[in-house]
Amino acid sequence: MSSLNVSAVDSEKTAVAAEPQTPYADGFRHNWTKREILAFFDLPLMDLLFQAQTVHREYFDPNRIQLSQLCSIKTGGCPEDCKYCPQSSRYQTDVDAERLMAVEKVLEGARNAKANGATRYCMGAAWRSPKGRDMAAVTDMIKGVKDLGLESCMTLGMLDADQAAALKKAGLDYYNHNVDSSPEYYKEIITTRTYEDRLNTLENVRGAGINVCSGGIVGMGETKEDRAGMLQTLANLPTHPGSVPINMLVQVEGTPLYGEGQMDPFDFIRTIAVARLLMPASYVRLSAGREAMSDEMQAMCFMAGANSIFYGEKLLTTSNPLQNTDLELFARLGITPEGQ
Ligand code: SF4
Repeated sequence: MSSLNVSAVDSEKTAVAAEPQTPYADGFRHNWTKREILAFFDLPLMDLLFQAQTVHREYFDPNRIQLSQLCSIKTGGCPEDCKYCPQSSRYQTDVDAERLMAVEKVLEGARNAKANGATRYCMGAAWRSPKGRDMAAVTDMIKGVKDLGLESCMTLGMLDADQAAALKKAGLDYYNHNVDSSPEYYKEIITTRTYEDRLNTLENVRGAGINVCSGGIVGMGETKEDRAGMLQTLANLPTHPGSVPINMLVQVEGTPLYGEGQMDPFDFIRTIAVARLLMPASYVRLSAGREAMSDEMQAMCFMAGANSIFYGEKLLTTSNPLQNTDLELFARLGITPEGQ
């Protein structure tokens, strides 16, 4: 249980107080106010890093990292209008629409991921939601990944309760569905599905007994208040997401957010640290945008409490650091991947 008390942060900027505020049965707070969260964002960076690293050490080995590999099982041609996404059919990008990959091809990728040290295989499809005709193939993929001894994760868009139950029955460990941003800023980024739709899918996933993976994207022109609002949504869910991916926008030519001003790297690091403070036992994942980060910036993110990365040369459609580059960085930092 975290010993963090934010009221102490207001009065004494560097405090990690003894009195826990844990009104919920799981021992974590789910009633964070925007004001409290903004108080974290406003701490001097070194104080924020110290607090985040202190909490991180209560729950995790600070020198271990979890590796997830991502596979795009159905690329492009998506009817949604997420302004950051090159897979939307509404934007002219280099991403072509493809069909759902064959199950065996997906499992070949999973075997390679396992051989390269990944412990979780994440399969993503550019759909508004899965169609009935796709369910047999995706459940076969889940079973195949599980048979390899890997954790399975899927991101297929919105799910109803029956679909979530079918994925659970196939053995799915995690379902990813990001909230993307704050409730207020979300409307500026996506108009084809509502924030409420997103929360409903998370509820269906939780209700089916699947671990929730949910985070968001920063660097989309949002304010600090929006970043606080996004983390408030995630931390105040009935259960903290087991994984919280924090993405830094990768600007892709042809998408509406191409040409957006670059965010201050320290603001990104602050977002990671505040996520760690609000969701102490969740895996906070450095996700998209790592290729644009220096080794030093990634190390500061790990210091701030990030303990998971997407691993492999490609994310869904954008590039990612080479695996060797990552392994060299871990060796330089004395970090060991989980499962090794
Ligand atoms: S983020 Fe997902 S839902 Fe949105 S356009 Fe891209 S693939 Fe479609």
